This record gives sequence, C-alpha cells and structure tokens, in this order.
Amino acid sequence: MRVLCKVCARALEWSHRVPRPRWALLVQAVALVLVALAPQAQAQELTTPPAAAAPSSSSSPADRVYRNSVIFTADARNRTAEALAIRDGRIVYVGSNQGVAPFVGAATALVDLKGRFLMPGLVDGHMHPLEAGLQLLKCSLNYESLTIAEMQQRIQACLDHSASEDASAWLEVVSWFQESMRPAGVKTNRATLDALKTTRPILVISSFGHTALANTRALALARITASTPDPIGGKIWRDDHGEPMGLLEDSAYAVFSDLLPKPTDAQYVAAATAALKAMSRQGITSFLDAAAPSESMSAFAAVRRAGGLTARAHFAPLIEPREAGDLPGAVARVVAFAKQYDEGANARVPGITVRNAKLLLDGVIAAPALTGAVREPYLMNAGTAEKPHWVPGPSRGPAVYFSADALATVLVELGRAGIDPHMHADGDGAVHAALDGIEALRKALPTADIRPAIAHDEIVEPTDFPRYKLLGAIPVLSFQWEKPAGDTLGLTNYFGPARMKILEPAGLLAAAGARIAFGSDWPVDKLDEWVALKVGVTRTNAPSAPPEYSGRLGDDPGLSREAVLRAATIDAAYELHEDEATGSIEVGKLADIIVLDRNPLKVPAEEIAKIQVLETVVGGNIVYEASAVPGVQ
Ligand SMILES: [Zn+2]
Repeated sequence: MRVLCKVCARALEWSHRVPRPRWALLVQAVALVLVALAPQAQAQELTTPPAAAAPSSSSSPADRVYRNSVIFTADARNRTAEALAIRDGRIVYVGSNQGVAPFVGAATALVDLKGRFLMPGLVDGHMHPLEAGLQLLKCSLNYESLTIAEMQQRIQACLDHSASEDASAWLEVVSWFQESMRPAGVKTNRATLDALKTTRPILVISSFGHTALANTRALALARITASTPDPIGGKIWRDDHGEPMGLLEDSAYAVFSDLLPKPTDAQYVAAATAALKAMSRQGITSFLDAAAPSESMSAFAAVRRAGGLTARAHFAPLIEPREAGDLPGAVARVVAFAKQYDEGANARVPGITVRNAKLLLDGVIAAPALTGAVREPYLMNAGTAEKPHWVPGPSRGPAVYFSADALATVLVELGRAGIDPHMHADGDGAVHAALDGIEALRKALPTADIRPAIAHDEIVEPTDFPRYKLLGAIPVLSFQWEKPAGDTLGLTNYFGPARMKILEPAGLLAAAGARIAFGSDWPVDKLDEWVALKVGVTRTNAPSAPPEYSGRLGDDPGLSREAVLRAATIDAAYELHEDEATGSIEVGKLADIIVLDRNPLKVPAEEIAKIQVLETVVGGNIVYEASAVPGVQ
C-alpha cells in the first residue's frame, strides 16, 4: 500500500536501522506476444500430457503424485490440469488423473487434493528480506490501527518480555502505522512512551518511514534538546516552550543510527531464517533481494550452508549514484559479489544467485515527499487553504539520480558482465530515463540476453507504454499500491486529474504488451502476497477500508486473474532469469509448487485476499505445510 513507506525501503536500502534524510532515500518476441495475450487468455484444460512427458519417464515411479487437483500451469497457454508427478525434485508429468497412473508405484506418495488448487510457487521479484527478517525479530506494532492505550500495552509487553535486558538497552519498535491511530487524528508524544514501566531508551519507527517517536531517555541520549536546530531535511516537533515532543521527522532521527546497536552476525542469520519462514507460509519459492547489502548475502549464504535455504535466493547489490565517477569499479564490485556467492544454474536444492544490480533513479512521487522525478511539474496551491487553486509549481522532483550518460554507461557495463539491471523508477521522468538507458543498452549489445527491470513505475507517460515491449523492459510492480488509499489519493492535488487517471498503470502496461513481474517490496508493507494479487485484479481497497477509499483507483482496467498469477510466477521467473527452470508447471522443470485452500481463478475476486497456502514445495521438498489441511491426505 502506502507509497510513503517506500521512502522507508529506500532508507533501508541505504542504512539498516534508521531512515536517512530524504535526499539519501531513496527479446523474446514470442513470449512477449504470449504475455500480451495473457490477460485475455482463459485457462484451457490440458487434456493430454505434453509431448515432453516422454514415455521413458513413465517407466519408473514418481516420488510424489498429486491427483484430483485444479492445476494452473502458467504455461504459454495458461492450461489447467488434474494431476502432477514429481521425481528427483522435478516435474515428470502434468495432465489427467488417468494419465498419471503409470507414475504411481509402491513407494510413491500419493496425494488426493480433492479438487484443491495447485500452481507454481510464487516468485517475488522485489523485496528486502534481510530488513524484513530483522523487523520480524523486533518489537512490532504489526502495521495495525491502534489506540494510544493499545500501543502502550504492546510496547510494555515487549519490555516485559525482554526483562533481562539491562536498564540502558535500547528498545526499537517497528511497523507503527502512525497515520492509522485511533481515534483518527489522535497525537502521540514522548509522554506516550514515558508512561511505560521502564528506564530504557525507546525508539518507535513508523511504517511510512518518515517519523520516529522517542521517549525522554532516548532524546537525552541523542542530545536532542530545545536548543537543537532542525537538521536539513528533518523536523523536531516542539511544544509551546520549544521542548522536543518526541516526534522526529526524516533526518531528525538519523542521529539514532549511531546509537542503536548494529545487529550481530547471528542476528542477521536469525533474520534471514525468519524471513524464509514467512516466505514459505506465503508460498514464495524464489525471491530477489532488490538492494542486497553484503550482510544479506552472507546471512543467506550461512543459512544455505546450514541446509536451511527454503527459497531460491537472488541478490541485487546496490550501485549508488555517488559511484558515478567510477562505474567500471562499481560494476566490478557487483561481479565480485557474484564470484563470491553465485552458485550457478538452479538445482533441486535452492541456491544463491547474484545476477542483478540495483540502481535508484529517483525517490517517491507520494506527497509530502514528492521526490519522484516527473515529466510535468507537481501542482502547488496558489490559492488559500479555504479557496485552493492548484497550478503547476516549480518542481519536477529531483534530477534523475544518474545522468543519461552515466546510466547508459553503467547499463552497458552491467550487460557486458551478464548482470541484469534492476532500476528503481517511481515517477514518469525516472521511468523515461530508465527506458532511454535500456535503449542505449540494446543498441550497444543487441543480442545479449539482458533482462532489465524497472521497479515501481507508479506514473508512466502514455507515450512510454509501448517502449517496455519494444525494449524488453520489465515493469516490476507492487500490486497492493493500485487502490484508493492515503498514498495514492493523497497525490490528487499534486498530480491533477489527468495523471490520477493513469496512476499505477498495470493494466495499461499489460495492454501495451509489457511483461509485468510482481514484487511485494516487503517490508514496506506487511508480507501478504494474496492481498497484493487481489488488488492487482480489483484495484480496490479492502471492504473494511474507510468510505473515502471505496471504488477503483483511476481508469486503468487492472489485470486479469491469470495475468496476476503469471506476474507472480513465470514472468517474475523470467525477470530473475530462471524461467527455464521454474515459474510454471511443465515437464522437466523443478517442482516448485504450492497448494491453496481456494481457487483464485474462481472465487469472488475479493476472496483472493483471503487465500491460505496449504503446502509449499521447493525442488520437490515440502518446506511448509499448514497445520490443519482439511481434506488433504
Ligand atoms: Zn524496494
């Protein structure tokens, strides 16, 4: 949901604990045609096994067979099937109940799914798993809408739970949905935290990533007093006497990053483990860390060595704008990470891949940040609060963080090194620059199999829609943002009606032939792939959302159910260069599959948000099973 949170992610990408100031936050022609058709394509039944199910493969029994299922294969024709056989971690048969019979032997585990839905495991093409895992281990307010009393109870429970900590140990609280405190408009301040039974310093970070709330002890340790000036890019909220109230905006709480303890290696490994567990529950079988610090690669590698890697792990080290003076050196740094960690081709047991690099081209379009680079100026109020009059203002957001020359240079260097660029571009100005960069890349390396991704794409100039297909650029979208909510509707005044109509243009990009990949951007939002996929279809908020968030977002038609499922499976697998091995249920591919409690192609669209994963299988191994799986034996 909230675009503002993306600032948080930007910050997380640059620092592991406390957001930094805003400035720092921050061909396949056949396949493309198939994808272009996918939104319209209806699932067809796969009545006969594909030719690849060679007779020889039926001569020995499978390890595991699923029957009586509705299987969405995500193959080129979106076919469905009834049965599936797995041997040595790979799919050896997809087809009918009758056709799978020869694969059942004495030692075969036979699963009667009794009509339940089975599909490829989810491929999440953009997330921040180490930071997400660290948050899972911290005291969390879980993005919930709370009263002050409830907030205090939650934090007190964390304090009581960690009673063995000494009196000077920091308590960091995360995922505070400040904008959703109840009753609406209620204000917190340091007294909210000072009322708790503790002497420990406490810092509560909002999920939007713009605000922190500190108790008096924390303010004292940070030496924030009445005489502390507001830093550039930040604000210290003050009472009538000028005393800090405890609320700190943006760079005003950067000071805490030197005070809070840095996680230990063991904590990083615990965070990676916790993140993997959460992913398996959601049905994620492959993911991209879309701005991987070295700590992330080393933590997941440690989990891998210990035999605990339960999803195929891809990493995109960050190339920062300040490296523009030595782009070959920056690319060499990414290549060095690849040499150190990349394990090569996908195998049955998930491994580590380093074949992407992350580049930030702008900030976020959302108000009040307005740090997305846009083609037409943000509007400003030339009237009064009572009589507003919104007219084009002086700002088009920041200059794109890389110059056109620097971007072209780095993309070509990455291409030569076999590294796929993954660019953050939120505003249409940044998107345009990303597409120009990809055009230069294609010109320089016309035959290279490079799969450049443009993440976020919240506003795109209509003239740029067809360029995604032409250039083989992959929009990586977080579908949960495509609904009426504070972050999207908050832009109404700053963007004006024409841009609001095409905000979050997933359906328009699909109609122009773009191959869309899904990426959750976790922990910007709570990890809930199924809520995101639902919004991708409906472009609506939850039925329980406030009335001002009812209806659909803009004029975009949204995506079909098949299209959102493809975006989170085969097309994200394509983005990650693993579509030959995963992303669809086809003979010869690795058995990365999930079983669901309901059929996302058939249930009322709103119910897609409620889907529960019953079983997650990676390379034929069950990595998650719901505790009670009614009807599955
Ligand atoms: Zn991100």
